[in-house]
Amino acid sequence: MTESLAFKADLHCHSTASDGVLAPADVATRAHANGVTLWSLTDHDEIRGIPQAAETARSLGMSFVAGIEISVTWAERTLHVVGLNIDIENSGLNEGLEQIRRDRQVRARLMADKLAELGISGSYEGALSYAGNPNLLSRTHFARYMVEQGHCKSMQEVFDRYLADGKPAYVAGEWAGLDQALEWIHAAGGVAVIAHPGRYKYSRREFTTLFRTFKLMGGKGIEVVTGSHTPDQYHQYANVARQYGFLASCGSDFHSPQESRMDLGKLPPMPSDLVPVWKAFN
Ligand code: AMP
Ligand code: MN
Ligand code: MN
Ligand code: MN
Repeated sequence: MTESLAFKADLHCHSTASDGVLAPADVATRAHANGVTLWSLTDHDEIRGIPQAAETARSLGMSFVAGIEISVTWAERTLHVVGLNIDIENSGLNEGLEQIRRDRQVRARLMADKLAELGISGSYEGALSYAGNPNLLSRTHFARYMVEQGHCKSMQEVFDRYLADGKPAYVAGEWAGLDQALEWIHAAGGVAVIAHPGRYKYSRREFTTLFRTFKLMGGKGIEVVTGSHTPDQYHQYANVARQYGFLASCGSDFHSPQESRMDLGKLPPMPSDLVPVWKAFN
């Protein structure tokens, strides 16, 4: 892919196929309108938005690679691994994602039970009414329902009081192992990228082990510039990319015009000495 002054990549965002609020075609249109020239849709544990995203991107003349954001459990915490330039027909990948989505259903029931005990009723049905894809229930859908019902003033408050790790309605997901997620991405011909490393509450030691393990397993990339990072964290993870020889990725992590910290295509450029992840696309 040739880069010009007008080149702009956004390789992480969500549609109604997971916990975003815009249909894949509308995410594509918004990305294009905001000047994105290389785009990926990376829904949580779900690829069903990809065909519409690809078709709309094609009609707009915007380069597109199929993507995924896989939920992983590593060192007893949730970690997100993005797979870019994947073949969405790959059976290993699809079977793995189906298993995660099945567990999301079980977890959603358990979260609703916990919320009911805390005096918040009807949250399973409520979350479902916000879900564009009934097979992909996320804490985001619960949070939207709880704000609508007036239990909390903001999504942030829902997470802080109820749904974040360690809070009273938190239920850990039965996610993929890191080895499995990388196997699925690699089987599907994709490039694996550690999503928004600045969000994880790992110790220094755990981060070092994570980066080494990921690299040994064939992981290639790390997100440096993302809507989930502060500018200080851009620098911090640019250094991690240099230190470990990771390819650098960037993405807004856009979910909704109202909720997202960063809009599609509004990312600052990455430090120019880093090797961008799209060099590995072919
Ligand atoms: P889940 O995959 O069901 O565990 O839900 C995780 C999703 O919740 C993330 O992908 C975010 O979209 C959303 N999320 C996590 N923390 C927050 C927060 N503090 N405020 C708003 N949304 C959040
Ligand atoms: Mn999300
Ligand atoms: Mn994520
Ligand atoms: Mn995301």
